[in-house]
Amino acid sequence: PSIFNTVPVAPPDAILGLNTQYRSDPSPNKVNLGVGAYRTAEGQPYVLPVVRRVEQALANDPTTTHEYLPQDGLKQFCDLSANLILGPDSPALVDNRSVTVQALSGTGALRVGFTFVARFLSSETAVYIPKPSWSNHKNVVVQSGLPPTREYRYFDYGTGAVDMEGMIEDLKAAPAGSMVLLHGCAHNPTGADPTHEQWEQVLKVVQEGKLVPFFDNAYQGFASGSLQMDAWSVRRFVKAGLDMMVGQSYAKNMGLYGERVGALTVISSEGGNNEGIRSQLKAIIRAMYSNPPKHGAMVAARILGDTEMFAEWMREKLRGALVRIGTPGNWDHIVNQIGMFSFTGLTAAQVEFMKDKYHIYMTSNGRISMAGLTDDTVEYVAEAMKDAVV
Ligand code: PLP
Repeated sequence: PSIFNTVPVAPPDAILGLNTQYRSDPSPNKVNLGVGAYRTAEGQPYVLPVVRRVEQALANDPTTTHEYLPQDGLKQFCDLSANLILGPDSPALVDNRSVTVQALSGTGALRVGFTFVARFLSSETAVYIPKPSWSNHKNVVVQSGLPPTREYRYFDYGTGAVDMEGMIEDLKAAPAGSMVLLHGCAHNPTGADPTHEQWEQVLKVVQEGKLVPFFDNAYQGFASGSLQMDAWSVRRFVKAGLDMMVGQSYAKNMGLYGERVGALTVISSEGGNNEGIRSQLKAIIRAMYSNPPKHGAMVAARILGDTEMFAEWMREKLRGALVRIGTPGNWDHIVNQIGMFSFTGLTAAQVEFMKDKYHIYMTSNGRISMAGLTDDTVEYVAEAMKDAVV
């Protein structure tokens, strides 16, 4: 028998497993509300016109090559990414106490970041993630060589808002040196973000408790529609002069999902060791995948670095991807929430009912992706939800 025969089957991923079930469902009425990718009104994948234009220009440019990038990626892309999240006047940039490396989208930024933590802070570092959070956070932390994640209360299911009291209480109890994973904006899966005042409270607890924030930014531009506003939390924490880490993804806001375009930034409270930090990040990347892919980073860098294209990106994003999902009808409470995901309030049993009777797929916590809704399906889904709750 093969030496591989004893390998057990891994449990299905909470989100990706759902896609598999959806694909194999033969019902013509099926609807997938689990996906995290925007679609056109007809449910087709959508490529931003500005992205298409840059790709065509790159393809026709004889200087475009397929040479390797360095381990830390395309420098111009990294600089522009740091600017985008931190702001060009950021004290971290002005004082030269931040290091940005290209990453394999948001997940890759977390993976390299937590590996760095495990290796150079402590492999015993406790990592606190919100309850609930994106289901992959706990996997990434453990595979990076850190202990299983701990949770802090985040969401009040009664009010549908952030459970500030619970969050503060749990973070106060975290030992000094613990890392706190924070969603920079558009919290997934709840769609509930702290207000500016609440962020101030979080900052205070983080500072007093000597906690280390790791901001995960998968949706910059999607919460408010403004890149600046959505970077408020990160910029506020940077201004406070903390040691912190920041992950970025261009999967959603540029629609570059499969190109794996992202960045990781390590910010030091006091400067001096950029060289040590960068060299170790590069060493981690070297052994993991050697160097990041080039195409998506080239596209993003062109858009970020060109005033006209940048403006075009913003308009398209607003008019196209964001406005497109503002589906009219009896969905006001969902439209008023922010980000890609929304909590319907459906129970696990109701979610099962929706799947069995209507072939509508969503994660068992009742989270739906706005991206899965189209003009054609919104009423069908609404009817089914009505049937599920009555
Ligand atoms: N972080 C959060 C909160 C997310 O919701 C996602 C994607 O759904 C990611 C990170 C990672 O996405 P990607 O690796 O495609 O950038």
